[in-house]
Parts: sequence; C-alpha cells; structure tokens
Amino acid sequence: MRKPIVAGNWKMNKHIGEAQELAAGVAEGTNGFDDVEVVVGPTAICLAPVAAVIEGSNLGLAAQNMHWADSGAYTGEVSPTMIKDAGCDWVILGHSERREYFHESDKDINHKTHVAIEHDLKPIVCIGETLEEREDERTLQKVEFQVRAALAGVNKSDIKNIVIAYEPIWAIGTGKTASPEQAQEVHADIRSMIADIYGQEAADAIRILYGGSVKPHNIAEIIAQPDVDGALVGGASLEVDSFVSIAETV
Ligand code: PGA
Repeated sequence: MRKPIVAGNWKMNKHIGEAQELAAGVAEGTNGFDDVEVVVGPTAICLAPVAAVIEGSNLGLAAQNMHWADSGAYTGEVSPTMIKDAGCDWVILGHSERREYFHESDKDINHKTHVAIEHDLKPIVCIGETLEEREDERTLQKVEFQVRAALAGVNKSDIKNIVIAYEPIWAIGTGKTASPEQAQEVHADIRSMIADIYGQEAADAIRILYGGSVKPHNIAEIIAQPDVDGALVGGASLEVDSFVSIAETV
C-alpha cells in the first residue's frame, strides 16, 4: 500500500561532472523500476546540473538542506524557492550531521518542515538516537521527541507527503547497521505515535525509511520488516551499481 522510497544522500561528495555522471547512471539503471520511488540528493551546487541530466526520467531530486526564508540576508544559505527552481521535489531535513555540526535545532527542523510543505517540497525528516542513548534505553524516548517536535503544528492532510528517516547515529557511516528487529521496533513505535496523533489512516500512509550503513547485502532483511518503507542511503549511493542494486531489492 505504501510505495517504498530509496533516497541517496550524497552528502558533500561529487563535483558537477561526477554528479551528472552518477545521476545519469542511476536514471538509466533504475529505468522501469515502477514499484519504488528513487531519489538522488546531490550538493546544492549540483542540483541544477543533475536536474538537467535526469529530466524525463523517473528519478526524484532532493536537496540536502534549505533555509526557511525565500530570500534575504542569509549569507551562504539556499532557499526553498531556489531549490525548487533548480528542479527539486524533495528536501532532506534535520540530518544528524546538520544537527551536530551546524547546530540545527528541533525548532529549526519544524520550521523548515512547515516551509517545505508550503512550497510543495516533500520533506525527508531525519531522526535518530546516539549510541549512548541506545545503551541507556532511551531510543524510543529520543525518536518520539524528535518526531513530535518536527511535526508540531503539521496538519493531518499533509502527513502523507512527509517522509521520516530513522537513522541511528551510531549506524551512520560506521558499517554498523541496526538489526532488522531494532529498526522494526523503532519504525513501529513511530507509526503508532503517528496513529495516536493523526489517526490510523495517516499512520498507514506515512513512509518511514531506515538509514545507517544500508548496503546491497543488508537491504533485503531490513526492507522485509513490515514498517520499513525504504532506505536513506549515504555511502552506497555514491556508486551506480550499489545504489541501483539497493533500489532493485526494495
Ligand atoms: P550511510 O549514511 O549510508 O553512509 O551510513 C546514511 C545517511 O547519513 O543518510
């Protein structure tokens, strides 16, 4: 019932020509994949050049971040209207690297989530616990807090256009993945929280992705979990073959 999503978060990788080459390869490799939404997330400077090479394909285009204002005195920032203009239909918000290195708060992420919806951009809102929080058995408490904070004030009718990405911080770029059972536990918890706030229909519609060292060899067991609706992929999205293989399995 929920169409799965495989989104590539390229982070601060690939120069313009390389980004175009990767995107073109992914577009070709996933051509005809009708049962999965495939999204690529280049750096801001590569958005328009990538949009030009994937035009006419089924690939979605995501920015990795955006500011909340449409324009103005915000040196170094990129606005929602600018990323739309560059061809984006998606935006990744609140990635743990943005929270940690650029001090994005839950309040900022909530603000940006509202702005994304207003601009018809589908937000992929990232949440997840640290290793310390997991070891202290505070995982569910942390993710529930982050989901509630990100969605504060969001209308029920907009929930279907929001994607949550559960990314345990200890699994990002480390080669350690959450076990399928650990992922399922958190995903099910988030979905039941959405049901409490917005009702069962909204909970059944929202897509919850897993992220954190997703690779071709581990995606099958992760996606087999009933509440996992796809993946947000970092390292393995930087090569055509591995990313296409993940999309194929999903
Ligand atoms: P990874 O990154 O797949 O390299 O662990 C995932 C992410 O940070 O979105």
